[in-house]
Formats: sequence, structure tokens, C-alpha cells
Amino acid sequence: MPEGFRPGRNFLFVPGPTNLPESVLRAMHVPSEDHRSPRFPELTKPLFEDLKKIFKSKDGQAFIFPSSGTGAWEAAITNTLSPGDKVLAPRFGQFSHLWIQLARRHGLDVIVQEEEWGTGADPEKIEAALSEDKAHEIKAVLIVHNETATGVTSDVAAVRKAIDAASHPAMLFVDGVSSIGSIDFRMDEWGVDMAITGSQKGLMLPAGLGILCASQKALSMRDSAKCARGYFELGDYIAANENGYFPYTPAVALLHGLRASLDRLFAEGLDNVFARHHRLAGAVRAAVDAWGLELCAKEPKWHSDTVSAIMVPEGVNGGDVIKIAFERYNLSLGAGLSEVAGKLFRIGHLGDLNELMVLSGVTGAEMAMADAGIDVTLGKGVAAAQEHLRKPHDQQQSRI
Ligand code: PLP
Repeated sequence: MPEGFRPGRNFLFVPGPTNLPESVLRAMHVPSEDHRSPRFPELTKPLFEDLKKIFKSKDGQAFIFPSSGTGAWEAAITNTLSPGDKVLAPRFGQFSHLWIQLARRHGLDVIVQEEEWGTGADPEKIEAALSEDKAHEIKAVLIVHNETATGVTSDVAAVRKAIDAASHPAMLFVDGVSSIGSIDFRMDEWGVDMAITGSQKGLMLPAGLGILCASQKALSMRDSAKCARGYFELGDYIAANENGYFPYTPAVALLHGLRASLDRLFAEGLDNVFARHHRLAGAVRAAVDAWGLELCAKEPKWHSDTVSAIMVPEGVNGGDVIKIAFERYNLSLGAGLSEVAGKLFRIGHLGDLNELMVLSGVTGAEMAMADAGIDVTLGKGVAAAQEHLRKPHDQQQSRI
């Protein structure tokens, strides 16, 4: 075969960026347009309202930045907090770690609750820390809803209960980069003050949009917040967005894609989207069981419906599985990051995905593991996943 030529298509099973549906791809195929034209708000104003439905927020305000999710992390912090402010943040994976690092770069005093990787936020510990903080010095609690590095979903409703049980006024900031649009997320019900996501995961778009939904309480902090902010000054967005415009040149093609992506999610129905993710994740977990391997997530209560991090046996490098999968089978799997580098590989199962697509990822992972010397019986994981997917949907308990 000529060098560099790869027939067929790549099977994309990293936990974001995810597959782009045809309708989203087509929607982005637009000529450049004037983002200050009188017609531009016809595209943008409904986007802000519809995004709130994805966050399940009536009271909040949605913002769209031409950034990745990391930009929305920064916007959440800098618009509400001041250098020296205390925030409480459990750390249990690479993304909770990076958010903590970003908060520290802005001068925040981060109280880190270390949790074992493979577990998540501990509401009891959060309640205890807040109860001890009699002077209410802790201004916010930072939670990564779905830790993409380990395939762990934390219980945000329980964290909200913990904050309330401590009668503490701290704001609740939640990173939903790999959950929102795929796993149930209830901003208003859970009393989330800043909810953060990006375009390249559940929203089935290329990377390039950072998306934030802010509660009225969070927005009221803008005047007192002293963290330096330039590009992410929400005041500029509030003024321009009011009329459907942006304080800079927006990523117009991505906004057209976002329209198509939201239409697609609403057409399927959000609850059906969540149930589908749960069903497909169940298939991957059935395969992992059948392979005799363990997930990084320590208990079923932590299982993520968008990404499974699969531990490889001692003596095997997870990186080899990923390399073989890519080179031999044109399958992209997610790598182990920092503390778990080499110890696991990840199968992303989120976004525009169906049963047979998931089976292709499971098949390829099974072949790559066998090639890398892991003792798996070919067909066993695939059969377990197939059995799971053949079950009537009502027998596949939904999480909703
Ligand atoms: N938070 C989580 C949970 C993520 O998975 C990621 C990226 O994968 C990020 C934050 C950072 O987002 P981005 O890479 O879009 O800046």
C-alpha cells in the first residue's frame, strides 16, 4: 500500500473530539458572513436560549467563547473571584488537576481534597470542610462532573446537598465538558452557579467553542471580583450578546454547526440521548468484564456513561495498545494521562454514536489488546457487548 494511504475511515474513540454528524458538517459549510449584519442575531439569539436547555437552566445566562473548554474554566473563575479567595476543589484526575492549576495561576487559594483516582468528589468531606469554615472564607466549590481521564462521574446533586447541609454560601462551579449533552445535567435544580462545557464532546462539533452558563448569583459577583480579565470579561459579552452580537469576531461556522447540533439533540430528546449513552456505555463495560479487566472507576457508582478507562494488566503498556490500534486498525483510543499514563487506555463512547459504531470500537480494542500480548479471547468482549445491546431497552436501566 502506498505510504500514508489509509483506506476507509478512522474509527474515532477518543473521549472528544467526537464524530461530527453529517447535518452538523453540512451546516458548517457556509461562506464567510458579516457578523454585524442585521440578520446575524437571527442565528445567535435562539442559540443562547437553546443552550440553556442543554444545561437545564431557566434562570442562568449562556455565553459562547471562541476558545476550548479551558477558556470557559478561566471565564468562570475570573468573573467571580479575587486573588487570595479560598476555593475548595476535590482532585481525582488530570482535568480536576488542571482546573486547580488554572485557579492557582489566578492567585486563588485552592484547598485541595485529594481523592483516589478512580473515585470522585466526596460529598461528606465537602460538607465537613464547609462546616468547619465558620467565617465563610471558601467562596466556591469546583467539581469536575465527569473526570474524562479516569471515566468517573461524580454526584453533583449530592455535592449541592452537602453545601446546603453545611448552610454554606459557597458558589458551586461544575465542569461538564465531558458530561453536558450526554449525561443528565441539571443546572438550576442542582444550584450550579457556573457550568462549563466545550463544543467537541457531547455537542458533536469540532473544538473551538468554550461554553458557559452562569447563574444570577455568579453574575452578581462580577463587580466585586478582582481577578484580572481581558478577553473573558463577561460584561463585554452581556452588552453585545443582548442584541445577538459578540465583542469580537465570532467563530461563525461553528455557530451554524451548534445550531445543527442543538437541533439534533432536541430531535432525539435529551432523555433519550442520556439513555442511549447509558446503553452504549453498558456495552463497553460488559466487554471489559468479559475480558477479565478492570475499569479505573473503582465502583459502579462512579461509572461514566461517556468514557471508560480500562486498566491494562501489569507488565503491559497501555500506550502499546493505543499505538497498535491506530497503526494496524485505524482506531483512535484515548491515552492514559499523567498519573495513569501507560496504565490504561480509554474508549470514548459519547456524541454521535450508535450500537454498531460502539461494537467497532470494542472489536478493534480487543484485537489491539491481543496483539499487545494481553490475554483476551478474541470475540469474548464483542459477544458480551452484543448481548448487552440486544436486550430490550427497557431492561437496560436508565440512570435518569
Ligand atoms: N474538563 C474536562 C473534563 C475535559 O475532558 C477537558 C478536555 O478534554 C477539559 C476540561 C479541557 O477542555 P479543552 O480541551 O476543551 O480546553
